[in-house]
Amino acid sequence: MRMPTDSAHVGPSIDRVPEDAVGIETDARRVWDACLERIEERVTSLSFKTWFQPIVPQKLVGSKLTVQVPSQFFYDWVEQHYNSLIRETIGEVLGENAHLYYAIAADDHAPADTDHNNFINSNRQNAESATTMLGSAAFAPRAAFRQLDALLAQSNLNPRYTFENFIKGDSNQLARAAALAVANNPGGTSFNPLVVYGGTGLGKTHLMHALGNQAIAIGKAKRVVYVSSEKFTIEFVDAIQADRVNEFSHFYRSVDLLIVDDIQFFSGKEKTQDNFFHTFNTLYQLGKQIVLSSDVPPKELKGLDERLISRFQSGLTADIQPPDLETRIAILRRKSEDNGFELPPDVIDFIAVNVTSNIRELEGCLISLIARASLDNRDVNLDLARDVLRVVVSELKSPINIDQIQRTVCEFFDIPDDLLRAKTRKQEIVGARQVAMYLAKELTHSSLKTIGLHFGGRDHSTVIHAFQTVHDRIKNDPVFRQNVEQLRKRIEMSSH
Ligand code: ADP
Ligand code: MG
Repeated sequence: MRMPTDSAHVGPSIDRVPEDAVGIETDARRVWDACLERIEERVTSLSFKTWFQPIVPQKLVGSKLTVQVPSQFFYDWVEQHYNSLIRETIGEVLGENAHLYYAIAADDHAPADTDHNNFINSNRQNAESATTMLGSAAFAPRAAFRQLDALLAQSNLNPRYTFENFIKGDSNQLARAAALAVANNPGGTSFNPLVVYGGTGLGKTHLMHALGNQAIAIGKAKRVVYVSSEKFTIEFVDAIQADRVNEFSHFYRSVDLLIVDDIQFFSGKEKTQDNFFHTFNTLYQLGKQIVLSSDVPPKELKGLDERLISRFQSGLTADIQPPDLETRIAILRRKSEDNGFELPPDVIDFIAVNVTSNIRELEGCLISLIARASLDNRDVNLDLARDVLRVVVSELKSPINIDQIQRTVCEFFDIPDDLLRAKTRKQEIVGARQVAMYLAKELTHSSLKTIGLHFGGRDHSTVIHAFQTVHDRIKNDPVFRQNVEQLRKRIEMSSH
């Protein structure tokens, strides 16, 4: 543990800090160290190292302690898992009126004042949790930042999503470059509108926010509004009911940069589309920037007015593809580092090879892995990664069924699939059948009896025998093991 320079002052006598203590760093350090001493006794040493040592005390004002955490993810985690422990501890050390605030560390590469933005935003976002955590805390932003705060609040932008933490790869290179160009010169490029499309979890929303944040940060757009098409629709319907459509239209038609996420949800909503069409035209004519995202290319949008679709296609359309292996590795490396973890390279490779569909799932696996390591007090190694992935993958994917396994196995071994259910004892068929049974046992929740029934009414002891045979062979025959692994992957992928 990193000891404070003035560690000599740390001791039981500083258990309680007087209400009127002045906020200086060393006070914060002393208070936090007193907390750490108590916490260390109540959590595993891995949890302590992982979740408490990285926290840096920043300042103490009265009984309000501000600590800095490395990332939003870190904050979320600590808040979710150690809320009551921290509450109790702070209460013991600082007394009943204790308040704890979190600041989230700024990115090194970000513009200079992001530090303050993050400070404010983390407080703004977390004010509520801090309140629930410790009673009555209310956050008042420092005056100097109030304006920026208001600007950000109105824009609906999430400061967590930046270009800096958006990892480049072949799969998103065009969309990223276009978004960056637009952020640096909204309304001033031929990319108007910019439409980014791609499957779920691939980074569209992240990119939309990054674009808006950047445009504000460099002062290229005063009024930026990010809105999902769903929210736009709801607000529009509300506006109709409240007889405030003019106000609504005026709001969206007086921005410099309008970002609408997930425009596929406009589908079938004719009146909203009509309003949006006019908003679009107004902004376009004024030389304002419009940025849209969609889960399919504009021309494939169903239930959308042709007029809109042709407008959407008049600027630049850029796609985001699922990340390739190198990008997945880069993302895992970066995200684990950002959260204060160093994952062994073989673990990173293992996750990157097995979780291929999107980035949200990659993040999900990483979080589960860290969680398991921390809660079970285990080292992060390949075994743990395998365990975690098995659970995560089965949670993420729709249930696999035995027919599907049979089909995939037969395709793989190039045999007709009714032979798996037939009586034949031909060696190659028996082998394929055993592998299919093994995978059915591994990948579904079916009972041995059910599995047997799917294989021409064989009984459960046959399934056990098959399972054991395959299990043993996997241990001793690397080529066989590879085949089985490849099959497992294909099956998991086809169930997606
Ligand atoms: P979409 O809107 O396409 O469904 P999101 O933008 O919500 O996807 O991305 C899902 C998660 O993956 C988010 O947490 C996001 O930060 C992360 N993510 C996506 N792409 C990247 C990337 N290139 N670099 C870093 N994180 C990414
Ligand atoms: Mg999204």
